[in-house]
Amino acid sequence: MAQEKIVQTAGRDQLGTFAPKFAELNDDVLFGEVWSRTDKLGLRDRSLVTITSLISQGITDSSLVFHLQSAKKNGITRTEIAEIITHIGFYAGWPKAWAAFNLAKGVWAEDTAGEDAKAAFQREMIFPIGEPNTAYAQYFIGQSYLAPISREQVNVSNVTFEPGCRNNWHIHQATRGGGQMLVGVAGRGWYQEEGKPAVEILPGTVIHIPAGVKHWHGAAADSWFAHLAFEIAGDNTSNEWLEPVTDEEYNRLQK
Ligand code: MN
Repeated sequence: MAQEKIVQTAGRDQLGTFAPKFAELNDDVLFGEVWSRTDKLGLRDRSLVTITSLISQGITDSSLVFHLQSAKKNGITRTEIAEIITHIGFYAGWPKAWAAFNLAKGVWAEDTAGEDAKAAFQREMIFPIGEPNTAYAQYFIGQSYLAPISREQVNVSNVTFEPGCRNNWHIHQATRGGGQMLVGVAGRGWYQEEGKPAVEILPGTVIHIPAGVKHWHGAAADSWFAHLAFEIAGDNTSNEWLEPVTDEEYNRLQK
C-alpha cells in the first residue's frame, strides 16, 4: 500500500493559540508522520491499536468517539467492533468495555447486519462493489451490484452478487466474435453452461463464454461473490435473457 498523508487539524483547531507546540506535534507528527506511515501499517490496523490503547486506559471521552469514527471509516465493521471491545473487556476490564460499547453503539448506529456483510466483502476486494444493479434486476434472482471498471478499449464491469444471487439463463448473441469473459475477483460463485456440470469460480478463475452458448453465473448460496465481466467485441452483439435458474437447479450445486 502506498504511503497516505493524513491531514489532521484538531490540534490547531482546539489548542493552536493555547499550546501551539502541542498542536503542531499532534497534527504534523502524530498524524502527519506516524499515522501517515501506511506503507508500514495500514489505517485499519492503526485504528485497532489506537482504540485498544484508549479503552485500556479507560479513556472513553470525545477522543475515543473520534477514533471509533475513524475506525469505521477505515473499514472496521459493526460486527468487528463488537468483537474487538468484547475481547478488550477481558484484558482491560469489564467496566471499560461497557463504557466503550455505549459510544460504539452510537457510531455504528445506522449499520444493519446486511450493510455490515457488504462492507466486509468490499474490504476483501480491490474493485468497488458499485451501485445496486437496478437496470438488470429483472434478469437476476437476489441482489446484485454493478461497478463500471473500463469504458474504453474493452468494456469491463465488476459484478457483485449477494449470497444466493444469480442471473437468469442467458445467451450473449453475435454474428461474429462476441461472447463474454469472466474473472473471479472475490468470494465464491458458479458458472454453468446448459447440459454441463457447474464450475466453481474463485478469485483468479477465468471463464471463457463463447457467443451463442446458454449459461448463467452467480454467487454460491453461502458466499458473497464478485467477478469482472469483459464484453468481447463482435458484430451484432446483444444479450438474450431467458428463464430464471430455479431453486431446484441451484440447490443441487451446493457442496
Ligand atoms: Mn453471461
